[in-house]
Amino acid sequence: MLPRFELYQPTTLPEALGMLSETGGNVRPFAGGTNLIPDLRGGREQARKFVSLAGLDDLRFTRFANGRVEIGSLTTVSDLHRSHEVLRNAPALHASATAFAGHMVRCTATIAGNICYGSPSADLLPPLLSLDANVTLASAAGLRILPLSRFNLGYKQTALKPGEMMTQISWPQPARGTVQLFYKLGLRKGDAISVISAAVSLTLKQMVCTHARIALGSVAATVVRAERAEALLLGRELTEKLIGEAAELAADASAPIDDLRASKEYRLHTARVLVRRLLRQAAEGPGEAGSTRRSTEG
Ligand SMILES: Cc1cc2nc3c(=O)[nH]c(=O)nc-3n(C[C@H](O)[C@H](O)[C@H](O)COP(=O)(O)OP(=O)(O)OC[C@H]3O[C@@H](n4cnc5c(N)ncnc54)[C@H](O)[C@@H]3O)c2cc1C
Repeated sequence: MLPRFELYQPTTLPEALGMLSETGGNVRPFAGGTNLIPDLRGGREQARKFVSLAGLDDLRFTRFANGRVEIGSLTTVSDLHRSHEVLRNAPALHASATAFAGHMVRCTATIAGNICYGSPSADLLPPLLSLDANVTLASAAGLRILPLSRFNLGYKQTALKPGEMMTQISWPQPARGTVQLFYKLGLRKGDAISVISAAVSLTLKQMVCTHARIALGSVAATVVRAERAEALLLGRELTEKLIGEAAELAADASAPIDDLRASKEYRLHTARVLVRRLLRQAAEGPGEAGSTRRSTEG
C-alpha cells in the first residue's frame, strides 16, 4: 500500500531550492516517481516529504551548442529517445534510452532520477560516464559542478548533500571520428533491468586510439569505468590482440555479485565478451552514416 506522504509543488527553481533547504534537508526531490513510488509502496523508501519537480519546465531541455552538450535534469528518457540531436551526437546515450524500460516508464522517468537513484543497473549511466559528463548540483547556497565519475559513491549512495538537487548534465562534444557504442544485456527484449551493460567511446586516428572510455553497468556496487583497459588502449593500434587484453582488464574492473538475474561468473564472462565485441565494432570504423554507431539489445 502507498503510505501517506507530503508533496510540495513549487513552480520555480528558487522556490524548489528554498523548500529543499527550509526543511533541514529531510525532504527529497520527486521527479518521475518511477523509482520512488515502487519503493514507497514496497516499504524501501522511508522519506515522507518530497518536493515535486514536475512544475519546473525550464529544467527539461537538450542543447547542443559551442562544443558542449547540456541536458536539463527533468528531461525524460522519452525525450532522449525521440531526439535526432541525441541520436546524432550521443548515439550510445540514445541507444540506452531506446533499451530503457517500456513506453510508459520512459515517458516519466527522468535522466536525473536515473543518476540520483544510484543504482548500478541504471541504463543511462554507462554512456554518460563514457562521455566524461559533469553534473550540476544546485542548493539555496549556490551551484557546484562535479564529474559524474565522482557522483555515484556506492550502492544507492551519491554525493548529493541535504538541500541539493541536480539541475543539469553536460559534456564536451566528442572529437570527430569518435565511435560511441552501448550494449544492454537483459533477460528479455524490452522492459528488463540489465544483467550487464557496457558503453564505449573511442577515438581512432588511422587505427591508433587517441581517446578511450569504457564503462560497465551491473557489475559492481556502482557503474564502473575500466580505467586500466582505457590506459592500455591509449596511443596503441587497435589490433585483435590489444582488444583481447583490454577486454580482460575491463572484466578485472568488475566486482559482480550473484543475484536473481545472473551469477557472478556469468557477469564476469559477459563483461569480457561485451567489451571485446564493442571494441571490435569500434575498430570497424565510423560507418557511412556518420562518425558514430550504436548497438543495443533490450
Ligand atoms: C517498470 C519499471 C521499469 C524500469 N526499467 C528501467 C530500465 O530499463 N532501466 C533503468 O535504468 N531504470 C529502469 N527503471 C527505474 C527508473 O525508471 C529509472 O531509474 C528512472 O530514470 C528514475 O527517474 P525518475 O524521474 O522516475 O526518478 P524518481 O523516482 O522521481 O527519483 C529517483 C531518485 O532520484 C532522486 N531525484 C530525482 N530527481 C532528482 C534531481 N533532479 N536531483 C536530485 N535528486 C533527484 C529522488 O529523490 C529519488 O531518490 C524502471 C522502473 C520501473 C518501475
